[in-house]
Amino acid sequence: MDPSRPHIALLPSAGMGHLIPFSRLAASLSDLCTVTMISILPTVSTAESRHFTDFFNSYGKIHPLYFQLPPLDSLAYPNTDPFFLRWTRIIETASDIFSHLLKSAPVPISAIITDSAAASAILPLAKSNGIPCYVLFTSSAATLSFFKYFPTYQDSNPVSIGNVEVPGLRTVPVASLPRPLHDPSHLFTQTLIGNSLSMVKSDGIIVNTFEYLEPDSLAWLRGEHSPPVIAVGPLPPVKMATSTVPTVPTWLDEQPESSVVYISFGSRTAMSKEQIRELGLGLEASSCRFLWVIKTSVVDTGDQTELSQLLGEGFLERVKDRGFVTKGWVEQDDVLRHKSVGGFLSHCGWNSVTEAAMHGVRVLAWPRMGDQRINADVVARSGLGLWPDNWSWEGEEGLVNAAEISHRVKEMMSDENLLKTAQKVGEAARSAAMPGKGLAELVRKFEGFA
Ligand code: UDP
Ligand code: UDP
Repeated sequence: MDPSRPHIALLPSAGMGHLIPFSRLAASLSDLCTVTMISILPTVSTAESRHFTDFFNSYGKIHPLYFQLPPLDSLAYPNTDPFFLRWTRIIETASDIFSHLLKSAPVPISAIITDSAAASAILPLAKSNGIPCYVLFTSSAATLSFFKYFPTYQDSNPVSIGNVEVPGLRTVPVASLPRPLHDPSHLFTQTLIGNSLSMVKSDGIIVNTFEYLEPDSLAWLRGEHSPPVIAVGPLPPVKMATSTVPTVPTWLDEQPESSVVYISFGSRTAMSKEQIRELGLGLEASSCRFLWVIKTSVVDTGDQTELSQLLGEGFLERVKDRGFVTKGWVEQDDVLRHKSVGGFLSHCGWNSVTEAAMHGVRVLAWPRMGDQRINADVVARSGLGLWPDNWSWEGEEGLVNAAEISHRVKEMMSDENLLKTAQKVGEAARSAAMPGKGLAELVRKFEGFA
């Protein structure tokens, strides 16, 4: 390790949606800084543990630092999202994680980059140890502006929640808010407020976005003056030297150019069996070619149902000439860059949005929970995609029926104007990624601490 370079420690919390942008940032920084990446064990999902293995094998110059969490009786929390549970566990255990980091770091730490989901605990520890602390916010600048304002909103609306008008920016309709925020006493609401209040005291907030995609939110955040907001996106994908996971189905190679709709709802959004059937029938009725990644459980180890059972008698046989369905992990960034892919039906997890943007692939937005409706709004505003905002999401009754899905899929795939506006987003994304201006700005700040 070169002692003249700044030494940056990164702390991702849990879930692929957090680990992937952290790995991308760590990999990009590793050419310019000494980097330590903290891995909290055991991981919640198999996807995360495989990712850590491949990542550390591929980036030998990044120093892995493992922290074993004390065992938890998860049966005591039967209805809690295991990823959210892990975020709160990391907050509870933060002082042990921090001591371990200080004790085991190979050289003194110049700055720490914490996950936004652990900011309330890590930031005070960093401050009391005199270590500069940055936050990697793993969602959009639009979501960040909402989070930044939300504690003020809640102070004046302590009992119930309505449309949230972020002054000088936009109104986030109540229907677009993460469901748990409807309950001010919910642990998620409390945790989010704690993290939001801490983030603003950090030395800077890093966001995987770029000017063309979110000009208004970035201008608003910068107008707030502090802390500095550094847009480093779109972060390039990591390059694994060896991979323990399959990459892209070879089936895609045989399909005509731009003909395939790729369907995925990310790494941890399960869909009900009834909705999966309707979606299948909708894809069948659309007559489009499709590559569909199905998830029926929040954590991948819980996914036991057979595809044929899920999709109904005869479905796979009927679509075998133009559809490919899998329950496995696919390397999404490679799928989106594939020449056969012409559209993406997405839940609008922020990483998925930035990957679609990077490759200029049209999106049909179907947000399912959390920050995804706020992100879907970015997709629609920027020209990257369409968002039928009456489609159901978390906590709502009602299925989106096959006819509606078929109609919207065909609409996305035939919309020439959308094709052009999405390609424009792609050009802007690639040009923002090329010079790495945001990253250079970040490293300059770190060099001040070396
Ligand atoms: N991903 C992937 N293959 C899959 C499912 C997900 O490569 O089969 C990746 C995807 O490319 C993205 C991340 O996992 O980088 C998921 O993050 P996102 O923010 O889109 O959604 P989340 O999973 O957090 O809901
Ligand atoms: N988040 C946060 N504090 C919390 C819970 C969530 O900062 O207590 C952030 C989280 O990092 C993500 C965003 O809120 O960027 C949306 O959370 P969501 O529930 O959608 O989970 P995610 O999509 O990140 O897995």
